[in-house]
Amino acid sequence: MPQVQIIPLGGVGEIGKNCTVVQEGDDLLIVDCGLSFPNEEMLGINIVVPDFTYLVQNKDKFKAIFLTHAHEDHVGGLPYLLDKLRVPIYCTEFTAALIRQKLDEKVGRDKYDIRIYKPGDIVKVGALSVEPVRITHSIPENCGLAVRCSHGIIFFTGDFKFDFTPVDGKATDMARLSELGREGVVALLSDSTNVERPGWGPSERSVLPGMQAVFAAAEGRILMTTFASNIHRMQQFMDVAAEYGRKVAVVGRRMEQNIDTCERLGYINVPKGTRIKLEDLALYPPNKVAILTTGSQGEPMSALVQMSRGEYGRLQIKAGDTLVYSARPIPGNEGAIWRTINRLFQQGCRVIYDSPMPIHVSGHAYQEELKMMINLLKPFYIAPVHGEPRHQYLYNHIAREMGHPEHRIFTMATGVPLNLDDTSAALGTAVAAGSVLVDNAGTAGVSDEILRDRYSVANEGLVIVTVPVDVTKGVLAGDPSIMAKAFSGSPKTLDIALDFLMDAMRNLGREELRDTSRVKADAADAVKRAIQRRGGARPLVVPIVIEF
Ligand SMILES: [Zn+2]
Ligand SMILES: [Zn+2]
Repeated sequence: MPQVQIIPLGGVGEIGKNCTVVQEGDDLLIVDCGLSFPNEEMLGINIVVPDFTYLVQNKDKFKAIFLTHAHEDHVGGLPYLLDKLRVPIYCTEFTAALIRQKLDEKVGRDKYDIRIYKPGDIVKVGALSVEPVRITHSIPENCGLAVRCSHGIIFFTGDFKFDFTPVDGKATDMARLSELGREGVVALLSDSTNVERPGWGPSERSVLPGMQAVFAAAEGRILMTTFASNIHRMQQFMDVAAEYGRKVAVVGRRMEQNIDTCERLGYINVPKGTRIKLEDLALYPPNKVAILTTGSQGEPMSALVQMSRGEYGRLQIKAGDTLVYSARPIPGNEGAIWRTINRLFQQGCRVIYDSPMPIHVSGHAYQEELKMMINLLKPFYIAPVHGEPRHQYLYNHIAREMGHPEHRIFTMATGVPLNLDDTSAALGTAVAAGSVLVDNAGTAGVSDEILRDRYSVANEGLVIVTVPVDVTKGVLAGDPSIMAKAFSGSPKTLDIALDFLMDAMRNLGREELRDTSRVKADAADAVKRAIQRRGGARPLVVPIVIEF
């Protein structure tokens, strides 16, 4: 039988930019195409997407994109992939509705091809076929994917939890999972994000009493921030508002769009007469209104952050307001979130971010749920995804505890294929893969060098070295000079660096001075050495040769 390869292009050893290749012979598909957020060292970077080089190299084989659900860490890379390649995208109706909004803006309406699938459908992709299975998470129409290949089923759980009382009543298709387990799952790629949490995770419905308690106690306006895609959380908020006789206004473009789309398609049921326009808020007393807002991640341009600064034209925070922070900080955003919360408190708004009754629950499986998935699917090989190294490690420990032998458990890494053969599986040689950084201007492909330079300038400043050279004669045409901006060292250090620079330049012969790149390299080197000797600072040193 032909070899089958599973190649993660992201989402392993990290949380974010989920994207995995499944390849058999000349047929290649990917599961998800996500983005991740920059770490604190990636200055000026807005988002991070997978390196799609491998897909471009194999564009003749690349047949289809399958999406498990509409979260950004699973779909946010699409505009950057579709920029290079046009491949049909398979997803559920709900996922399609959400990604269409973004693709229309970023890619253009005629540049993508979405095909709808529903749980139970089987989509053939050459030698492979894909069957979505309904599994609960924190967004409607989330699917696990059974990818059938010559060796059996490769099962992608996608993001999941076992929610037995889902808000939309659509529970996980446990029966189908167990049938697939009986048919033969050769490899399980499981969510591992919450592997550190013992027991079973609470149902989405369990935030209802927490919200009711807030509504029962608050005398002023009630605001809630959550992810704009958390349709069920917003549904519950509107239900509770209606129960307490409050009208609901929605703030933030993405949230307004999502609620409009979901209401039109029937994914959200706004209680009659509950929703009002933001402009009409002033017509009602504070204890008769509630507000849903974006900004749960402290995004600088979001409505909530602008309100916290008193800079949002359409709505001002008032003393006596209550804000429910119904979300979880995505790692890296904590600082921005706390600053927002602090500013809200300064304006007299009470922020509820932690309470005895839950106001937020996770959409990811806890330990017992992860075990339940393994039990249902009975996989031969097992590999945790959607996790950082500690999550992968701890998940593997659980798999071993459940009796899986070491040689059937794999810790995957970006770009490294898991090769399935007739009688064995092994990790292979890495393909081209990694991260592509997209800066605040939307330019993809910011290099490591640019990042290092930004980091140096931000932390230690900038030193500009100017050397005037008469290139025809091969002599210095004047004295070299040094100028510093935001430099962390002392003026004395710059004096010494200038001495080093003079020495280095005087040591250059006629031929060497005619070679401007040599002059630049020696000038930068002399200045860097002098500065480092005086205390180890590493500013960005930019040499300039002025030719006469
Ligand atoms: Zn998700
Ligand atoms: Zn995810």
